[in-house]
Parts: sequence; C-alpha cells; structure tokens
Amino acid sequence: MCVFCYNNLQKEATEYTKKINSNFAKKFGINLEHADCSEYELATSNQIKSAKGIKIETEAGNTVWDLNQFSFYENDAVSDTIHPSLWLNGKSCYSAGVFEVVKDAIYQVRGLDLSNLTIIKGKTGWIVQDVMTTVETARKALDLLSEALHTDVRSNVKAVIISHSHWDHFGGIKGVVDEENVGNPEEGKIPIYVPAGFDEECIKEYIFAGTAMDRRNDYQFGRKVGSSEKGVVSGGLGIDHPKGTASFITPTNRIEKNQTLFIDGLEIEFQLTPGTEAPAEMNNYFKDYRALWIAENCCGTLHNLYPIRGAQLRDSSAWANYIQEAIILFADRSDVVFQSHHWPHYNTKEEPDGVKKYLLNNAAFYRYLHDQTLYLANKGLTAKEIAKEIKIPEKLAANWFTRPYYGSVEINARAVYTKYLGFYNANPVELDPLTELQEAKLFVDYAGPEEKILEKAEKDFLRGEYKKAANVTNKLVIANPENKKARQLCADAFEQLAYQSESSIWRNAYLQGAYELRNGVGERKLSRVKNKDMMYRMSPKYMLGYIGTLIDGKKAGDKELKLNLIFVNDNAEGTEKTVYQGKEVTVEQKFYVHLYYGALLSYENYQKDEEDVVTVILPKEIFFKIAEKQIESVKDKIDTNDFKKLLELEAVIEDLNTKDSFPIIERSDSSLTL
Ligand SMILES: [Zn+2]
Ligand SMILES: [Zn+2]
Repeated sequence: MCVFCYNNLQKEATEYTKKINSNFAKKFGINLEHADCSEYELATSNQIKSAKGIKIETEAGNTVWDLNQFSFYENDAVSDTIHPSLWLNGKSCYSAGVFEVVKDAIYQVRGLDLSNLTIIKGKTGWIVQDVMTTVETARKALDLLSEALHTDVRSNVKAVIISHSHWDHFGGIKGVVDEENVGNPEEGKIPIYVPAGFDEECIKEYIFAGTAMDRRNDYQFGRKVGSSEKGVVSGGLGIDHPKGTASFITPTNRIEKNQTLFIDGLEIEFQLTPGTEAPAEMNNYFKDYRALWIAENCCGTLHNLYPIRGAQLRDSSAWANYIQEAIILFADRSDVVFQSHHWPHYNTKEEPDGVKKYLLNNAAFYRYLHDQTLYLANKGLTAKEIAKEIKIPEKLAANWFTRPYYGSVEINARAVYTKYLGFYNANPVELDPLTELQEAKLFVDYAGPEEKILEKAEKDFLRGEYKKAANVTNKLVIANPENKKARQLCADAFEQLAYQSESSIWRNAYLQGAYELRNGVGERKLSRVKNKDMMYRMSPKYMLGYIGTLIDGKKAGDKELKLNLIFVNDNAEGTEKTVYQGKEVTVEQKFYVHLYYGALLSYENYQKDEEDVVTVILPKEIFFKIAEKQIESVKDKIDTNDFKKLLELEAVIEDLNTKDSFPIIERSDSSLTL
C-alpha cells in the first residue's frame, strides 16, 4: 500500500505530475528532448555577443545576477519537475548576450536582467530605450554593447526613453547616465523621455502599498526558493530578478500626447497607451528602421491584469484597444516589433504578416478575456467559477507568445470580474466574512479532529489530488501552525502544483509557500520601498499622502493637530519667498495639514489662518524625517513656533521598516480568533 512519507525534504515529481506534464507536451507538440519551438528560435537568433554564464556583482562583491544558477538549461531534455511549456520559456530566456534587432541600427541586451536594455542608432549617437531594473545590470549591458559593437556606447548616449512606470524599466537609469549629465540636449545634456503621468504612477504603485507588496513579492518571485530544476526556473518575463541597486532620476521630457519628435535626428512617433500594462505607458515607432517598440503591451507571454504581488487592476479592454490602435498606426509600416521583455518578432518569408499576427493575437487575447468574463458574469457565475469555466479558443491558445508564463487566464478572469463588479460575490454570507483564521478554526471544529482531516488529505495527495490536499492542510496549518504533519503534507502538495504550473509566478508562489511551511518565514525585515532615490523625490503632496498611510489609527483616533506647512526649496520655480533659517528662500509649496482623529487631511496650496494652527517652515526632505521617526535629529533645521506638535504627530506614526516580515501561509494574530 502506498504510504505518505512525512518529512521536510524537496520531492521529485510524482507519477501524476509526470503524466499531466507529458500530456500537455503531447497536446502542444513539445519535444521533451530538445527545445525546438518558434519562440526558442527567435530568442537564440541574431546574437552578436554571448553572455553565457554571466555573473554581475555590486562594488561590495554581492551577487546581483548569476546565470550559472540556471545552468540546468544546458541539458537538452526537460526535467519532470518543470512544466514543459515553462521550460521552453526559461530555456529561451537563458540565451543571454547582445542581439541585433535591426541591422546596424537597433541592438538589445537580453538575459542580464528581468528586462531588456535596447539601443537605437541616432544621427550622432545612441538612444537608450528602457534601462533595466538595477544600476549594476544596466552598466554591464552598456559595457557588453560597447564590446560587441567596438564603439564607446556609454559616452555616446544622446537620449533615454523610458516606456513605462514599472521599476524594471527605470531602476537602472544611473547605470546609463550620471544625474549631472541629464538635461537639455541643446546644452549638451541627455534628455529622459517618459509617458505622461510617469512620476506619479511610480510612486502610487510602489510606495503607498510598498511594504505589503514587497512581502508578497517573496511569493511572486520565490525569493527564498533559489533556482534549480526543483526551484525557480523563470521569472516569466525574463529568467530572474536582479538583486542590485535601484535608482531614479527625475525625467526631463514628458510625452503628453501622441506626437512625432526628432530625437538625436531620428524621427520617432509616440503612441500613449495609458491604463494598459502600466498606468503610464507608451509605444514608439522608428520610421527609419520600420521598427515598432511595443513597450510591455505585448511581451512574448500573456501578461497580468493583476500581478499576484498585488497592484491595482489593469484594464483588459483598454489594453486590447491600444494594441489595435498600434496595428492601425504602425503594423503596415513595420518589419519588426520589439519590446522590453523577451525577443523581437519579424515579418518573414514564411510569415510576411508576422508583426501583424503577433499584435492581433495579443489584442484578441485581452479582448476575449474581457468579453468572456463579462459574458459569464452576466450569466451569474462568480469570479472563482469564471476562472474555471473560461476556455481560450485553440487558435488563440496555440501561440507560444501568449502562453501564460507570467499572467494566467484564471487570475486575469478574476481581475476582469473584480474590475467591473468588485471583490464581493453578492452572497450575503460574504458581507461580513470570517477571517482566514476564523474560517480555518471553524472548519477544524466542525470537520475535525485534525488527525481525521489529515488522513483524508493524505489519501487525496496519494490520488494526485494536490489542490484538495493543499486546500485542507492549509486550513489545518492556519488553525494550528504547530501541526507539523499538516505543514509537511501541505508543502508537498504545493510542490507538485508548482511542478505542474505553466505560469512562472504560480510556480514561484507554490514553492515559496512550500519553503515557508518547511522552514518558517525566517529572519527578514519589512521594507517599504527599496528605491530610496524615488522615495526622496516624491512631491510634497504624495509625501503627505504617504505619511498618512504610516499613521496608527488606534493611537491617533483621539488626536487633532493643525499645521501650516511651508516647504522651501531654492531650486523650486516659484516666485514666492519666505524667511527660513534667517535667509530669504523660495517657497516650493504650502499645505494646511489637519490630523483629524486619525485621518491626515492635506489641503494643497492653502494655509489656515487660525490661532491654534502651528506654522512649520522647512525643506520637504527634512519633513520626511518624521516618516523615519527621526524628526528630533533635524530639530535645528525646522523653523516653527511649536516643535512639540511635530513630536506629537511623529508619536502616532509607525516605522514599518523596523518590523519583522509578516506571515502569509499561516496566520499568527491571536486577536482575530473566533
Ligand atoms: Zn511593466
Ligand atoms: Zn517589465
């Protein structure tokens, strides 16, 4: 008789998992002994310099990137522990180096970062399109380009274009340009072009919910898991995430409308695509090279309408519409479409409409997801039911470039439902739902004892019913984190689900879950945001908004404070002056800030003329110290008639950066018990 073996070891794929994966391979014609699909061919062709096994370190010697960790892709055949389609994607991403996109004109560095760095030849130098995630990887990318092209690319960067407000496209900026060289090209400086709304959206996406997102990213990226055939095998958009330094430089030029610009003498048409893959995003068309940059609106995989790290929901309808608009605007004039992740797609002899087909299939996929979700919702299905019911037509599902390596049909369908109808399924039992812990305890109470539930879960596991086994054992773990057997069985079930996942981020999440069940959360401090450059560049309005999210409502519930804040900055453009530290300085912005029973209400460009309002004059960076609980340390740089009030405000602020990582796979807050 088959008996389940309880321990904390990583396991091989079971016979059930092997069967599921090999059935998929059969259905989609995947050769398990040798990668030979069209995407793999595109990923590996036109390489002019290899970066095989590349390792990148910080100045202090910490590893930022190490492709050797993925050397299992040197094997021709797929492992049983990797979904065959995801294996094709990972193996394609493993191809690293400098690639020619358009002969003598456009080059791309791939396989050094989650995203690509692309350079486009201008009339006198190079235009850099997107700058990767970290300073170290971007710097290395420019070095490789210089070596491959036998020219000093770095000294000849004439402009930078950043396609959208996601960190893997702007974080490497200081590896490409020095901040003091950024500015007006007429003064010999380097301009940075971004889509309208870029700065604001960066902050909204990464700072306001940054702490929760960072912890959830552990799951999306499988941060504790490590790369191996039983671990992380692909990031879905690139092979992995670099661990270097993220930077930010305030852009010089914002593209506010669709327009044509000459940048370093090159004619570039800009198409804004707001509210698609990112809230601020744009495509560009390079007429001289018949080349369409599609940003991340198409990216060689099905993307996320909702990334599982957490983010605001994306609009699949707008997404489809803007790709359709790109087809009308550019497809007939393009021989190649290239982007910030994965590899370009071309018109070829065999497929003269290759570019159009690529765009059309992407647009159709997002449109289908949108329309079918609403079709099913209007028939009365809930989000969870739609995720199971929605089926992608064979013709759309069969394209490798829209397979779910990053996004997934199931999550995307739930995202469309939630965008239109919200998270509530209309069943009144969900009006005031039990918490995860309450529900788990109730479940054990009604269906228990724990041993009996575990016995059934074990049987399900042995039948290959991993979702069922994971579901009930996770409830056991939540109800009783000390139940070692439940943890081990749940971990093993997650692991098999990971091996069966075509989506890299599902795989990573299951594996991270298994890791934490076996080893615990471990030592790790929460971090609200890693990009300090970005943090300190927040406008005063967003800084105040951010500080509002740091207030402990329980502590501040009976507090009222009134401040007239005058932010001064000698580099600001305003004409209004005030006296600060005995000198006349420029006023950047004024706010009336009212802490009203826990809520921080800010009034932009407004001051309250009342006796109990405290006036505070200071640069915004100094005020920011309040968020770090260090206002006392800058007391002598603050002009105010009542410093005590700032201390009172600081007293209700919590610095989350000093807190330990919170649990996800188990709950620990006993105050939430039933
Ligand atoms: Zn993006
Ligand atoms: Zn990206």
